[in-house]
Amino acid sequence: MKVEALPAIKGNYNLQDYEETYKTFDWKETEKSFSWSETGKVNMAYEAIDRHAESFRKNKIALYYRNDSRKEKYTFKELKELTNKAGNVLKSYGDVEKGDRVFIFMPRSPEFYFAALGAIKLGAIVGPLFEAFMEGAVKDRLEDSEAKVLVTTPDLLYRVPVDQLPALKTIFIVGTDVEEDGKYVDFLKHLEDAPSSLDIEWVDRNDGLILHYTSGSTGKPKGVLHVHNAMIQHYQTAKWVLDLQEEDIYWCTADPGWVTGTSYGMFGPWLTGTSNVIIGGRFSPDAWYKTIEEFGVTVWYSAPTSFRMLMGAGDEVIKKYNLSTLRHILSVGEPLNPEVIRWGRKVFNHRIHDTWWMTETGAHLICNYPSMEIKPGSMGKPIPGVEAAIVDDQGNVLPPNRMGNLAIKRGWPSMMHTIWNNQAKYDSYFFPNGWYVSGDSAYMDEDGYFWFQGRVDDVIMTAGERVGPFEVESKLLEHPAVAEAGVIGKPDPVRGEIIKAFVALMDGYEESDELKEDIRQFVKKGFAAHAAPREIEFRDKLPKTRSGKIMRRVLKAWELDLPVGDLSTMED
Ligand code: ATP
Ligand code: MG
Repeated sequence: MKVEALPAIKGNYNLQDYEETYKTFDWKETEKSFSWSETGKVNMAYEAIDRHAESFRKNKIALYYRNDSRKEKYTFKELKELTNKAGNVLKSYGDVEKGDRVFIFMPRSPEFYFAALGAIKLGAIVGPLFEAFMEGAVKDRLEDSEAKVLVTTPDLLYRVPVDQLPALKTIFIVGTDVEEDGKYVDFLKHLEDAPSSLDIEWVDRNDGLILHYTSGSTGKPKGVLHVHNAMIQHYQTAKWVLDLQEEDIYWCTADPGWVTGTSYGMFGPWLTGTSNVIIGGRFSPDAWYKTIEEFGVTVWYSAPTSFRMLMGAGDEVIKKYNLSTLRHILSVGEPLNPEVIRWGRKVFNHRIHDTWWMTETGAHLICNYPSMEIKPGSMGKPIPGVEAAIVDDQGNVLPPNRMGNLAIKRGWPSMMHTIWNNQAKYDSYFFPNGWYVSGDSAYMDEDGYFWFQGRVDDVIMTAGERVGPFEVESKLLEHPAVAEAGVIGKPDPVRGEIIKAFVALMDGYEESDELKEDIRQFVKKGFAAHAAPREIEFRDKLPKTRSGKIMRRVLKAWELDLPVGDLSTMED
């Protein structure tokens, strides 16, 4: 697709000269920012919170929180004390020790962060669970990880099949009027009484920190274990890519049940001493714009699905709010359609910066930073310290403009440590010659920009041409009637596969054969004849993960009458 590049702007951290930094940068330089590089003994929670509480930032706001009924703020000093208290509660009443899995299953709230950081201070491994998970999803994860402790709320308790989880010894309940009984402990009552000082458990850099189950877009979620060492990259990318500065007010919209909500909703911003906004409750355009206005958000990290919903809500609603504090907007999780970038420029007067990474990679790998030209539709370039390439199925590096496997050279600091209980799965990510293979299909252009094409399994072979579903979906979105689109390959005796598009319409459009034909012609004329969907089906909604990703495997299963597989992460 022909694109016009958007000019670079001045970023604060010296990636002005990307090429130069890329040539010379070594992660060892970042490591030296931390005092533990000398001793080797480390703790993420200390670096994210306590270090600032003992510095000029002690009275700086670390956490702004709001939901429908609460509005609170906490300084770094207060967070240090509250996470110490939480650590003491978990230790005294749950016997939590280094390496234990402590799962947290509750809505976004300050207590979520107290418990998570408190557990990390004890050297435990935190397992965050998205509040909307139903019983099956909760059970799978607690069982697989053999969680010893769970922190949850009274409302969610009925989804925890406690009798079927022999490893689960203690359940902390966060709520009012909690009846303590055997393994059930009142978290808030004891939090209040707990001492506010705690002996931190110093761990090795490769000791477990957090266990994240993947989004489940392509199959059963995998338990990805990250270690404390990941902080090197969380910190560096929070500076380079999020461009966080002392005065920034930062808002990441992702739930901590997903990796974005921890790597960049907790660790990255706090490692850099940034004020972090966390919002509970449901999405609505008004609530979101109001958040930006109310807190004076300067750096905003969200996802294409949210931007598309905001775009769909129309530009009138934006005019009600003062969004002038915004200076940097980023996106992750799914391909960022050029149409969305154009809309962002129009309504916010900012370029939306795409970032590509995965649960498994722990932190940003390929991005558009403030100081780079953006080519709308491209994910950008590998950050310094990361070597990316497009390789064929044997692991040979392909020349520019050839579609293949997006692969990364081993050796970035936030790389997963293992897949929990599944070494074979972990091993399957690597080619014998050492490349980590992402499972995404992409190409690199002659300027070194990477272009996402789809999941490897989703790439469509039609009449001898390889078509990435993403470019077709992006073209479909440019049609005024199309709100959301998911594209799959459907087996065809003549062409191998044909392109089938599932389309949700914008409000005010009626389904009709004429509209189908109009959409088809739009792709044919505006993109390529061979990529125009031969079949279009209208749907009210597309199947999505709870992290907002279109589940193409479900569309395909419906279409071909195949088993749909694991649906534990699908939206209701
Ligand atoms: P599962 O691995 O369980 O199937 P998932 O891959 O969706 O689920 P995540 O780790 O949350 O789980 O998502 C990583 C994937 O998200 C990437 O492999 C990629 O396909 C997609 N992705 C993330 N960021 C981008 C981006 N900027 N552009 C395009 N795709 C992206
Ligand atoms: Mg994945």
